[in-house]
Amino acid sequence: MKFNTKTIHGGQENTDPAYGSVMPPIYQTSTYKQDTPGGHKGFEYSRSGNPTRAALERSLASLENGNFGLAFSSGLAAIDAVLKLFGPGDEIISTNDLYGGSYRLFTGIFEKLGIKFRFVSMQNTGDIEQYINKNTRMIWVETPTNPMMNIIDIEAMAGIANKHGLLLAVDNTFATPYLQQPLDLGADIVMHSATKYLGGHSDVIMGSLVVKDQKLAEKLYFIQNASGAVCGPQDSFLVLRGIKTLHLRMQRHCENGEAVARFLKGHPKVENVYWPGFQDHPNHEIAKKQMSGFGGMVSFTTAEGTMESAVKFVEKLKVFTLAESLGGVESLAGHPATMTHASIPKKEREKTGVVDSMIRLSVGIEDEEDLINDLKQALE
Ligand SMILES: *Cc1c(COP(=O)(O)O)cnc(C)c1O
Repeated sequence: MKFNTKTIHGGQENTDPAYGSVMPPIYQTSTYKQDTPGGHKGFEYSRSGNPTRAALERSLASLENGNFGLAFSSGLAAIDAVLKLFGPGDEIISTNDLYGGSYRLFTGIFEKLGIKFRFVSMQNTGDIEQYINKNTRMIWVETPTNPMMNIIDIEAMAGIANKHGLLLAVDNTFATPYLQQPLDLGADIVMHSATKYLGGHSDVIMGSLVVKDQKLAEKLYFIQNASGAVCGPQDSFLVLRGIKTLHLRMQRHCENGEAVARFLKGHPKVENVYWPGFQDHPNHEIAKKQMSGFGGMVSFTTAEGTMESAVKFVEKLKVFTLAESLGGVESLAGHPATMTHASIPKKEREKTGVVDSMIRLSVGIEDEEDLINDLKQALE
């Protein structure tokens, strides 16, 4: 099956043996009748498994070319489950340019439990090996990064992880499986905030993991069930519905993202534009190698270079909505320094380039001309 067919049919055969409904029913139930103790039809309790969630989990596995999918109550709950594979004394190497909530989870919760994190730049893959020692267990990669739009070479990182017997996990939220399939490039775990492009309509909070290896899947399933951060059947249904148009939405997100990036690059009130599709983007060649398009996320800094100029700009927008999050059909604008990245200390933040004058755009699927005109009036 090709990707554009998988979004609609992947893992969706026979989802309703009772009536043959084309969409899986929303099994809004916590428990299931047993004929004799242990005599159930595959489901006993909805934390452990629910048919609607199971349909979504099969779809997720199919999209990422994995064998096992797991859906969680949020993206951070999915990351939390990955980190529970480890214990005190274990070390994890993470990209230093990552989602603020992931940084907060790593340092605010798991560091206290005895896991050590090394936040390093992954622009130069060769630099990573110096941080690996006998306690290192995993490399955590987010690419494209948020909001700097840096690209990390997944295949090269997989080579290093493999050589040292480490797990490689990739947060694939920004790219989606439409643009990038980390398991095919050698990653062991692919993670999503399904809240973003997979759900696609800004109406659900959800997370997911997909793996190929059965033993790893069993460990993660144990954590999912033992910790219990599962998503409900209604939300599972909504994300499954969202996924059915993922390929169409992503195509338009990419087209509009490119138009917006090119418009901003030529504007005198704009200083830098961060979008991996530009030939002079430092990681353009890697992006071209591992992604089939450049996505709908664009960041830029104002020429004025001040916090005030960025705040004034986002307040003036009319079609773009000033809001956290990304990946929905509607265009959103955010100010990372005071919004998504406020939980990262200013010093750490500015080291990676997230300055006060930076604005991050999640370019939606509205009419291109309306989006450009909105940016134009807000800049002027
Ligand atoms: C939003 C996001 C997360 C966290 O997901 P939630 O669904 O908000 O818990 C993790 N990584 C990235 C890249 C994100 O954008």
